[in-house]
Amino acid sequence: MMRQYELVERVKRYHPDADEALLDRAYVYAMRAHGQQKRASGDLFFSHPLEVAAILTDLKLDESTIVAAVLHDTIEDTDATREEIDSMFGPEIGALVDGLTKIKKLDFVSKKAKQGENFRKLLLAIAADVRVLLVKLADRLHNMRTLHYVAPEKRIRVAEETLEIYAPLAGRMGIQEMRDELEDLSFRYLKPEAYETITRRLEEVAQRNGPLIETIEKDLTARLAERGISAKVSGRRKRPYSIWRKMERKSIAFEQLSDIFGFRVIVDTIDDCYRALGVVHTTWPMVPGRYKDYISTPKQNDYRSIHTTVIGPGHQRVELQIRTAEMHEIAEYGIAAHALYKDGRTGGRTLMSESRAYQWLRRTVDLLAEGDSPEEFLEHTKLELFHDQVFCFTPKGRLIALPRGATPIDFAYAVHTDIGNTAVGAKINGRIAPLLSELQNGDEVEIVRAEGQVPPAAWESLVVTGKARAAIRRATRSAVRRQYAGLGRQILERAFERAGKAFSDDKLKAALPRLARQSIDDVLAAVGRGEMFSGDVVQAIYPEYREDRKPSSDGANGTGWFDIKGGDNLRFKVPGNNEEGSSKAIPIRGLNGDLPVRFAPEGGAVPGDRIVGILTPGEGITIYPIQSSALAAFEDSPDRWLDVRWAVEEGNRQRFPARIALNTINEPGTLATVAQVIAEHDGNIDNIIMRRRTPDFTDLTIDVSVWDLKHLNAIISELRAKRVVSKVTRVTG
Ligand code: MN
Repeated sequence: MMRQYELVERVKRYHPDADEALLDRAYVYAMRAHGQQKRASGDLFFSHPLEVAAILTDLKLDESTIVAAVLHDTIEDTDATREEIDSMFGPEIGALVDGLTKIKKLDFVSKKAKQGENFRKLLLAIAADVRVLLVKLADRLHNMRTLHYVAPEKRIRVAEETLEIYAPLAGRMGIQEMRDELEDLSFRYLKPEAYETITRRLEEVAQRNGPLIETIEKDLTARLAERGISAKVSGRRKRPYSIWRKMERKSIAFEQLSDIFGFRVIVDTIDDCYRALGVVHTTWPMVPGRYKDYISTPKQNDYRSIHTTVIGPGHQRVELQIRTAEMHEIAEYGIAAHALYKDGRTGGRTLMSESRAYQWLRRTVDLLAEGDSPEEFLEHTKLELFHDQVFCFTPKGRLIALPRGATPIDFAYAVHTDIGNTAVGAKINGRIAPLLSELQNGDEVEIVRAEGQVPPAAWESLVVTGKARAAIRRATRSAVRRQYAGLGRQILERAFERAGKAFSDDKLKAALPRLARQSIDDVLAAVGRGEMFSGDVVQAIYPEYREDRKPSSDGANGTGWFDIKGGDNLRFKVPGNNEEGSSKAIPIRGLNGDLPVRFAPEGGAVPGDRIVGILTPGEGITIYPIQSSALAAFEDSPDRWLDVRWAVEEGNRQRFPARIALNTINEPGTLATVAQVIAEHDGNIDNIIMRRRTPDFTDLTIDVSVWDLKHLNAIISELRAKRVVSKVTRVTG
């Protein structure tokens, strides 16, 4: 067991001004408090806090942390009290020990709900003072080192918890060495056979390769020295757990693992890092795709280094990490290293708060305040410990954490479902950006909204968060259903009026059994979707009613039928909307309105056109200009024809699709002239198809979007006036 003077010496090695009396006092206090308590190993319990303190002196932590480590089990396991510790060691150490006591019994292998709550407590204690985490990790490390003394069932539990919670936390805090050891120790208890096999194989490989590590170390050091780079080169075997994880991830056998040797090259300056890299790459062939520069782009936990893999002597793949001494310190000690650069005492926290690892911690803790359910939070956080996330901010500074690859749409839904549903655009860091951009860490995202929007169904497959996906599905589903029900109601109201019968929700309700539907909305949506005919609904309410819907009849209510001459002398009929603004016709306002509307796929329709609607089951209404030859196809289905009219207000800024066909002279600049006319008239070109008929003439088919018929005609007249244009016609399908 470590003696009193040994503890003091360990601290004084890196902190010569350490308060010796304070350390002595802690040693004696804890020794007395624990008295004759024993550990599972049979050792005196007091040896445990001393070992924990020793681990932390390796991380060169300040004396308050060391003292807290010595005292960390006293409040929970002995008669010691917070008050007593406060008065003997001061409130700073008292608070640290108190924090450690609060998280001592937290169990992360319990029921989900409990786990989440426990994790929340753990993070809150850590956030109060990150040194609590450092002591906790050292405590866990020593317990893992001595785990073989503990009962087998308990071992598994502790090892699982270590692998799931503490090892990733150590990694996230950048304390790589500790993470590696925690992982290897957990692995050893969770998969004893795999651990055994891999360890044995590693031994064999080491023997077979004999002095390989030493050879490379010497060779590389010499080559670097030739170029005037002083470097410390050290080789090591990979850790059993990291090898096993790689075998699992790539499902390969041990024999197929190529790079089980790793070398670290520690140099003086960043410049030397890149020069050393040059030496390595000119000495041995590099393995493509393995070069990574974490110096120019550090990892989230502040890790910086250059990684590369080369084919070394004996055709062994060798992985190299090149870094400066300072980078190495951070790579090994992570957040603890930041304390190191600060003058001991309590000052460490100022610098820690600047480290990225600490920022991560603060932000994670901020998430707690958002008040998600604990299970969800744990899911979220566990995931986040393994896979990096992006952290973005609202303009008001609220933090929104999202998985990598998230878009402003995910962001919008993460802030609030209503914001997601009404999102139409985004500004990232003040600049307009597509809603599908990938968000980066630290982005400030502002969502541009428009009320009355429905999110496009296509978003569902483009977002990465489950929350956004579910919300989009809900919103589009209910919007589509609402549209169909609205259309169904309009169709029914007109059908009843035409039949001269009264219509009300109550009457419809009474007829539900006959229609075999659950609710009024079901009937309305079915009619709107074209799955149920309006005549059947009238009959369900008025069984004596016989539909008499013959062409050219029914002049009484002004919705007579017209004979229209189609393109190839086809005669077919459409219900007339002969009066502008007829109240009998279903009003059409455009896309994204309250009806499931689309426009004739081959040529469109614009306000000012006389139009009819064709109901297509599952698709809603398609609007055709009455001169469209495509209407011939629906002549035999009178139930699908709908009386429709434009209901577009003056000053409407919505565009409608139309198609024009041009015959132009084939000379340079023709297309530009045409495009310019359309642009000058504020038309929007959606598509152009060019086809050369003869050497002299080219046919252009252009889809444009315009405000209305007047707008379209203005464009057509202007085009006709151009010398290069010989003919312009409108195409209506
Ligand atoms: Mn302990």
